[in-house]
Order: sequence, then structure tokens, then C-alpha cells
Amino acid sequence: MELVIRGGKVATAHGVVVTDVGIDGGRVVQLGGTLSGTTELDATGRFVLPGGVDAHVHLTDPYSGPGEHSWADDFTTGTRAALAGGVTTVGNMSFHRRGEQMLDGLERDLADAKANSLADYFMHPVLLEPDEVGLAQIVEAAALGHPSIKVFLSFKRFDRNVDRFLKAMRVAAAAGVVVAIHCEDAAIMGCCGEMLAEQGLTEHRHYPETRPVEAERIATERAIGFCEISGAPTYVVHLSSQAALDACRRGRARNLPLYVETRPIYLYLNRDRFDEPDGAKYAGAPPLRLDADRDAIWAGINDGSVATVCTDHAPWSLAKKLDPSLGPSELRQGMAELETLMPMLWSLGVATGRISVSRFVEMTSTNAAKLFGMYPQKGCIAPGSDADLVIWDPNETRVIDGGSMHSNADYSPYDGWSVTGWPTHTLSRGEIVAEGSRVMAEPGRAICVPRRPFERP
Ligand SMILES: [Zn+2]
Repeated sequence: MELVIRGGKVATAHGVVVTDVGIDGGRVVQLGGTLSGTTELDATGRFVLPGGVDAHVHLTDPYSGPGEHSWADDFTTGTRAALAGGVTTVGNMSFHRRGEQMLDGLERDLADAKANSLADYFMHPVLLEPDEVGLAQIVEAAALGHPSIKVFLSFKRFDRNVDRFLKAMRVAAAAGVVVAIHCEDAAIMGCCGEMLAEQGLTEHRHYPETRPVEAERIATERAIGFCEISGAPTYVVHLSSQAALDACRRGRARNLPLYVETRPIYLYLNRDRFDEPDGAKYAGAPPLRLDADRDAIWAGINDGSVATVCTDHAPWSLAKKLDPSLGPSELRQGMAELETLMPMLWSLGVATGRISVSRFVEMTSTNAAKLFGMYPQKGCIAPGSDADLVIWDPNETRVIDGGSMHSNADYSPYDGWSVTGWPTHTLSRGEIVAEGSRVMAEPGRAICVPRRPFERP
């Protein structure tokens, strides 16, 4: 064999066993038994986890004008951060630009990722125009191996075209396409922003009031109704509140194909952060909520109501986040989370006893691989699976310093936090792509992960 990993605690969604892992041709070929490798890694006392599958990242620029809009990371820097943190597959939101169709944006982002990504990738084309061409392209994209789309209820264009978007969900249902939905109501947010402006409340700390829980709850209820009527597999992205989670629980109890993603910030931070002088650095959409919401989402992770923790990695420099010319409705949303996704969830989830190692594996890898049609190639450790593996030291502690990490963002929302549980090695298809925090992978080595249409897990 090319590589044997000795004596690690091999973790899957089903449990943990101490065994050796044999790797050849980029795949896991044998667990246990007699093995000898050209290269051998000793993982005694450490875990061997499936590489993370982060189904929600933004590594391509959605707008066309130079300087008009630009997140700090691209495919190279973003996936470098991913590999350093144990994430070996990323799902990018692929926007098309003015004058383009959905497939044009998809093609451009695929070419970008092929040339520049270090980690394996897949794409969710964003449906902005649900006209006849848009609907036909949902089916075309699925046939090309991209059976998921993204829809934003937070964009005003949604309310102008509700009937067409609902039709798009019927098309998606028939084609086995997962519809990822951003659930915040555009009209409520518009109204809240207007009321704040009328009261002269223009400071950054009012950001949470521009996107209240009601906007999320109402939009989530609508998405669930659309799921129920259309039958489309529906993936609620970055759920942040107890009210929205309760709505999803009720939908799931009706056996709907409804799945919930949450995002790291909602597990570790609350809205008091916005009272800090630099609180705008925590702006994400939806905003940070209350401790009760945070606790409800942890409970949802444990009872299976929440399927995945994905980053929504969309980083900015601190100066851009704190830009004083921006009103509370205009703050730049998103932050760097790819490198800290798995360590933070381990440190605050597994090490604290909140979740099991198997649940950690499901949340960071297995469930996303299943929902997005890549399992068992990705998301598990079994003969035949890609050897996307993380050798994980559960005892290593580092203090987070976003300025010295791999993302181009110059800060992390967790700067100064002491975090226990880090990768010592990250493997992608059998290749050691990161060791400690050093990433050896080069751009252009990654593949677009072949995907199948949705099947109910
Ligand atoms: Zn996003």
C-alpha cells in the first residue's frame, strides 16, 4: 500500500474503533488486518476522522464590477484554510452576474476552482431568474452533476416572483435537486431598516434589529410550506434561532424532506457582541441571537433536527467590516470560519461532552456528503471511499489568531479563544496535503466531486 495509518481511533457516524487504515490509489482499501505501507503514519492516541465536507462557502465573487464587491478569500486561500483545519471538500455558492444565465456563472466558477482550488469542491448554482431558461437550466445543471441550487428569500426579487420560484422547486423535486434556501424575509427586513432610520438609530450595534427573528421564522415557515407543496428536498441554510428550528422540527415530524444547516457563530456567540465597539466584525446574516437560541441549536444537533454545521465562509478584512460609512442595514456580512470549523466544534462540542465523536463526524462530514449526493465517496472511512482523512489530536491546544491563519481575512471572530483539538495531518485522496498548520497542496490538484441526484437518507 502507498500509505498505512497505524493505531488511530477511526471515527465514523457509527462509532469509533482502534484500527489501521490502508490506503492505495487515493482510496481507503482496507481497515485492520495485515497491512504494510511504503509510508506509514503513527496515529496512536489520536483520532482518524473523515475529512470535513463544508457544503456552504463563498470563494467566488458574485459581482462583475472591479472592486464593486469582493470577499477576502478566493479558491486558493479559502481552501488552504480549509485543509489546515481538516476540511477536504467545499461546496461553493455559484452566482451568475448581470447579463448571464445560471449555467454561465457555474461554468466560470468551475474553471476557477479547477485552476485554483486545493481542496475537492462542488457547486450550488444560485437561481436568481426563475424564468423558462432558469428552470430548464436547473435540470441541465443536475444532468451535468450539480444537483443542488440556492435560493434567497432575503432578496426582494423573490417576492416579485414567488410563483416562479415555487415552480422552480417543483422542477427541482422532479430532477432530484436539493434546494438550499436562505430564510430571511426581505419585506420585514426592509421595514425594520426603515424604522431604525426614521428613529435615527444608525449605529452598527443596531444590526440585529435590522434582521429580527421574525424575519427568519416567517421565511422558514414559507420555505417549509414550499417544500411540502413541491416535494423538493429543502436545505435550510445557516439557521440561527429557536423559532426557526421549532418550525423545522414540525416540518420534519410531517416527514418532509427538510434538512437544517447551522453555522458556527450561532453555537458560540450571542448578540451581546454587537454592544462591543467593534461588534460589526460579528455581522452575519442572520445576526447573532440570544443564549436561548444558541442552546436550542445545540439541542437540535443532539436530537438530529440539525443535519450539518457549515461555515458560510465569506470573509472580509476587519477594516471593511468596521467601515464607519455603513449603516446598520448595510454591514458586510460573513467571516472566516473554514480553518476553525472543526477545531471549534471539537473544543466546544466534543471536549465539553455536549456531542459525541460520531455526532461530530455526522455534522462536519457524513450528513453533507449524503445530502449532496457524494456518499460514500466522501463523508466516511470505508473500503472504496476517497482517502480524505484527518489525523486529529484531541489534546492539542492553540490560541486562535486570525491574523496569522490561512484565510486572507485579518481576524477571526474567535481571536484569543483557547481551542483544544486540531489536525496533525490532513489527507486528500491519500495525499498528505497539510501537516500541523503547514499546507503543502498546490492549486490545480483538486477535483470537482461527481454527484448523484438526491436520495432520501
Ligand atoms: Zn452563504
